[in-house]
Amino acid sequence: MFRKVHYRLTFLCAGITIFILIIMSLIYLYVSESGLKKNQFLSFQRDMSTLTANLEQQTVITHEWLSKIEKNNSYLVSIMDNGISFLFNDRNQDVNKSRITNEALNYYHSHFSMEGVSSDYSSYHMEYEFTDSAGDDYYACFAVIPFPAGDVQALILSPSDRLDIQIKEQRVRFLLLDAAAVLLLFLFSYFFTKRLLLPIEKNRIGQIQFVASASHELKTPLAVILSCANACKKASPEEEEVFLSTIRSEGQRMSRLIDDMLFLSKADNHSFHVHMEETEIDTLLLNSYEAFEPMAKEKNIRFQVSLPENAVPACCTDGERLHQIIAILLHNAISYTPPMGRVILALTLEEADSKTSGKYYITVTDNGIGIPEEEKDNIFKRFYRGDKSRSSKNHFGLGLSIASEIITALNGAIQVTDTEGGGSTFTVTIPMRHPAPS
Ligand code: ADP
Repeated sequence: MFRKVHYRLTFLCAGITIFILIIMSLIYLYVSESGLKKNQFLSFQRDMSTLTANLEQQTVITHEWLSKIEKNNSYLVSIMDNGISFLFNDRNQDVNKSRITNEALNYYHSHFSMEGVSSDYSSYHMEYEFTDSAGDDYYACFAVIPFPAGDVQALILSPSDRLDIQIKEQRVRFLLLDAAAVLLLFLFSYFFTKRLLLPIEKNRIGQIQFVASASHELKTPLAVILSCANACKKASPEEEEVFLSTIRSEGQRMSRLIDDMLFLSKADNHSFHVHMEETEIDTLLLNSYEAFEPMAKEKNIRFQVSLPENAVPACCTDGERLHQIIAILLHNAISYTPPMGRVILALTLEEADSKTSGKYYITVTDNGIGIPEEEKDNIFKRFYRGDKSRSSKNHFGLGLSIASEIITALNGAIQVTDTEGGGSTFTVTIPMRHPAPS
């Protein structure tokens, strides 16, 4: 699915930019070609003004002069003396040339009127574009130059194939550039959209894994509940009591798991809120200690609390959420520490100075089974459980991920290190923000 969306986005992203690129290129080509054609025609008109002025100044029009003009400018020149073809035309008789000349003359006579043009004119010339019967384009100039002996007419033709070549070359250059741009745009879109989709894909995989793990976790207690319910039908009253108690405890387990999952889903939607208020952090630690003392005692674990000797400044935080984090850490510490072990809950302070704002450090230290180095990165992931704890029914692998979500919301941090001599130490850091005076 990811690949399909990726390809679609690549085509969409590249398609839109390529479409815009092609439209812009076509507009540019159109404007540029129109400009080129206009300039070429203007330059031909200028050349013709000079040429007719030159012709006017000639007393005798020699073949050499005309040949030179034809050769130097790639023109086809025809001179008519009082309507009769000048000898130059006959000498250089070329069937093709006379065909084109006749067609150009006919075109001129059929499209532009000669009326009103007389020998009173110092000179007259008219330029026009013309396509011959073979489909070749020309710029043509029909000129009438008055001489004392009578009017001389001249027809000058300039093939516009040079301009065609220029235009074709420009089109090929644009085609190549556009092809390279299309390739680059596709490559760019491919990698850009891949990068863009990566977090979404990661999130999707995470969600699939979450649902799979959640279903797996829910399946076990549900299976126990169903089998107990079936067994109840044929059970004696004493057995029935045992089955009902199992159903109750499995139901509570499911309820805890669902609560945890709901909390994480709220965290994902950013819909769980923290209520920052003045909190006596040392009192909070003492309450947590009291809550877990019976559990530690039951497991025969030495449980201690350590607080700073001086008065601890009140902290602006969400006390209930902080208590939730400490409870998760203490529950784990007691669970993963064998009997006769030791668990210490401690609070230390780092006073604020001119450079740093102060911090509270809450540490839960145990000398239990410890966490291998390669697992330390994973323990905050959802449903992750170390191998040693897999058999425990009361651990779903969600505790530390919940703690990590809460601590992020409280602007703090959580980290794990090894306890000297074995075991784990979890440190929760809370920024020291005193409540504003009311
Ligand atoms: P669980 O419900 O399995 O305890 P957690 O998210 O709280 O889930 O912890 C994830 C894993 O981290 C545990 O399965 C365990 O392997 C490891 N872990 C957490 N705390 C400790 C600890 N104090 N000592 C050793 N391992 C721990």
